[in-house]
Amino acid sequence: MVIPWEGPFFPPEANRRSTAESLVRILVVDDEPSLTRSIGALLQSNDRLIEDCGSVAETLARLNTSSFDLLILDYRLPDATGLAVLDWLLSHNRRESVIMISGEQSMEAAIGALRRNADDFLLKPYNADQLRRAVSSALLKRQLERTNRLVQQRLQSSEQMHRYLVENSLDLIYTLDADGRFNYLNLRIESLLGHRRNALIGKHFSEIVHPEDLERARFSFNERRTGTRATNNLELRFNRNPYGLDDSDENGPVSIVLNAMGIYNRTDSRAPAHYAGTYGAARSLPGMRLGETGSQQYRVYHDPLTQLPNRDLFGDRLNLAIAQAKRRKSHIAVMFIDMDRFKLVNEIYGQGEGDALLRSVALRLKQCLRRGDTLTRHGSDEFVVLLPDIGAQADALAIAEKILLAFRTPFPLGESEFTATISMGIALHPEDGASAEDLIQHASVAMHQVKGNGRNAYSFFSPDMHATYRTRVSLEKELRQALTRNELELHYQPLVSLSRDCITGMEALVRWRHPSHGLIAPSRFIQLAEEAGIIHEISKWVLETGCAQLAVWRRRYPDLRLSANLSSRDFDRTDLSDTVSLALSRNGLPADCLELEVTERLLLEDAERVSPNMHGLRDLGVGIAIDDFGTGYSSLACLQRYGITRLKIDRSYVKDIKTTSNHPIISAIAGIAQGFDIRLAAEGVERDDQRNALENLGCDEMQGFLFSRPVDAAEATRILQELRPSSTAGRLARTVPAA
Ligand code: C2E
Ligand code: MG
Ligand code: MG
Repeated sequence: MVIPWEGPFFPPEANRRSTAESLVRILVVDDEPSLTRSIGALLQSNDRLIEDCGSVAETLARLNTSSFDLLILDYRLPDATGLAVLDWLLSHNRRESVIMISGEQSMEAAIGALRRNADDFLLKPYNADQLRRAVSSALLKRQLERTNRLVQQRLQSSEQMHRYLVENSLDLIYTLDADGRFNYLNLRIESLLGHRRNALIGKHFSEIVHPEDLERARFSFNERRTGTRATNNLELRFNRNPYGLDDSDENGPVSIVLNAMGIYNRTDSRAPAHYAGTYGAARSLPGMRLGETGSQQYRVYHDPLTQLPNRDLFGDRLNLAIAQAKRRKSHIAVMFIDMDRFKLVNEIYGQGEGDALLRSVALRLKQCLRRGDTLTRHGSDEFVVLLPDIGAQADALAIAEKILLAFRTPFPLGESEFTATISMGIALHPEDGASAEDLIQHASVAMHQVKGNGRNAYSFFSPDMHATYRTRVSLEKELRQALTRNELELHYQPLVSLSRDCITGMEALVRWRHPSHGLIAPSRFIQLAEEAGIIHEISKWVLETGCAQLAVWRRRYPDLRLSANLSSRDFDRTDLSDTVSLALSRNGLPADCLELEVTERLLLEDAERVSPNMHGLRDLGVGIAIDDFGTGYSSLACLQRYGITRLKIDRSYVKDIKTTSNHPIISAIAGIAQGFDIRLAAEGVERDDQRNALENLGCDEMQGFLFSRPVDAAEATRILQELRPSSTAGRLARTVPAA
């Protein structure tokens, strides 16, 4: 699962501009002082700094010492034409935008200016609006170009980073040509086998494979297959260079596990791809020799998949450690480690890949532990660690930190990579339990607490966790029943268009009417539903119920639309577009009246998982909106890849709107939306000044308490009747009383 690091939209440096830097600098060049003054007055605003000058020479002198965002340049100047300035800008690779103004009716002036990359050309006499429009569009274009440049820079540095990671990987990474000869090896070859890498380039791979393993390596080392059939965790031995430079003083063969796959090239898109060679990665198995794992004794006490001690052996060692700790009055720690969302890996990539991942995880955990510690596989994706004889809680904490850090490096998975995260619970002896069972159970309770708080962390056990754990378990049980007991409700919040002066859509927001706790907000149960694996059923119910309601409303308001929120877990299912399509067809609705809101985070998740569903939904014709936009780190490439149809500016940006200051992030989002032809909406609009500022920034559709809170279906119907008496004409007052 490669998470493409394409960089955030708004890289920190973009936000860190100082006030002086964030001013837009405009230079007005005209030899007629009354004109420069009037243009200055016309374009004046708080976020602009406007300067003027009257000749080409003076302009070049200014440009030599400072840079501007925009030049408004008269064609006819006393010492030369404005074209001389444009020539200078081109020859100096400058990025200033230019609007040329001219009284010349000849085509030559206009063509000359536009050929030299002027952004616009205005003929005198022009009116104030024409100039204002030209200035806004030149500035907007500039801003988009700047965002694009930043994204490009990010891409470049990400490429450098990948190169660095490959070069410095602890795995041996190689590529072979179609004849099985090395054409790339990373530096690891030198420390692993003691060969100079340049000495091996061009040599056949058999040079390094142990003679007894050559037969097994024959079709694997130079693997031609890709995908799940490619070589996966094959154990082999390599020969060391007897005169070598490796960092060990052993000279026997080195045991490794190998993953390899074919590389295919395509010269033109219609021709079949041809085999160009092999890509492979080999990881050494520390301290393990092949054959050693074969004994009967070994098999009885070890997990066949990971070769780790099994539960029995672990139990023995834990009991022994407890007895010793009692005698010595020392402490021990038990860590319960559970992989987050491992089930998904199995479902999506198949069990073979899942197994391979578990093996890699076991290896990585082991590398974080000390010699006397014991690691066992407790259940499918659960591991338990025994840290005998720790001095204090801090020792266990240091190891937990070390493990979390180690998991930041992605694991190989299929043909790509996967960043696995884990949740850890820690119980200490004697504080948290006297017996082996108690310690493991309490560590597991602490682990569940971590899961509930958002995973990818660790926590020490405390007695009050028992209560939280029980509440969570019972809430989860009740949520399962909520669906069958009809306890879910949909509320609706209007989306209004200022220019059309009417409600254009309703967003469906789910609530749970709990028999004793009353109305529960989605923020309190959606995550629980995701973890309990019942979010799909909830989403299905929301789609069905929302569509049925929309069908009723559309009889009177035929252009009304509905938006519904999806969870990123909904994209785990292959039948997502069928579910959506069924909800539409059952209610006789066209696809374009439905918009599905997804989070920005989803765009960064594994493309292999998300893409098929996204494309399925786009093919259906439903809209896809990015909810809470601007809070994540999505990229322009993602928006294009998935054909996103709307961005919903996150509430936090709307909240920050002050009457006087400028709003660079909102205008950047508006610029992106406009540049990519994506619809825009703002959420969380509570005050008039926010609405006005958004309107001025080009955002026409919005949602928020200013217009209406989310309300139940009956109240939403009443609001529609009041504000949309007929199908198209609306009479949305500037301030609608909040319902
Ligand atoms: P969201 O989709 O961003 O929905 C907007 C949230 O902002 C709603 O909270 C709404 O009540 C609140 N809101 C709207 N206008 C204003 C305003 O002017 N000021 C303030 N302060 N808040 C405003 P709610 O209904 O509690 O929903 C919270 C989140 O729960 C939603 O955020 C959405 O991510 C999720 N959610 C709601 N319904 C569903 C659902 O059916 N399925 C899924 N997967 N998630 C849902
Ligand atoms: Mg939403
Ligand atoms: Mg939102």
